[in-house]
Amino acid sequence: MKPIQKRCAIIQCPKCDYFQLVYLGTKSHRCAFCESTIMMKRSRVKILHISKSPRDASMVLMKLKQERARPK
Ligand SMILES: [Zn+2]
Repeated sequence: MKPIQKRCAIIQCPKCDYFQLVYLGTKSHRCAFCESTIMMKRSRVKILHISKSPRDASMVLMKLKQERARPK
């Protein structure tokens, strides 16, 4: 049996701009930072990246967070 690979997306919370990982197909997601509910069907949600696997997605997420943390 093949392991089920869920596709992941990296989204940005419309309220607080916090980057986070969600599984594709998820209808709503609660922001890990500001705890607001993000409706995935709304176009305001910014999808920054789509990955084949959670591992890949978390690597991209780490990079995005590092880039953001870098001082100007
Ligand atoms: Zn948020």
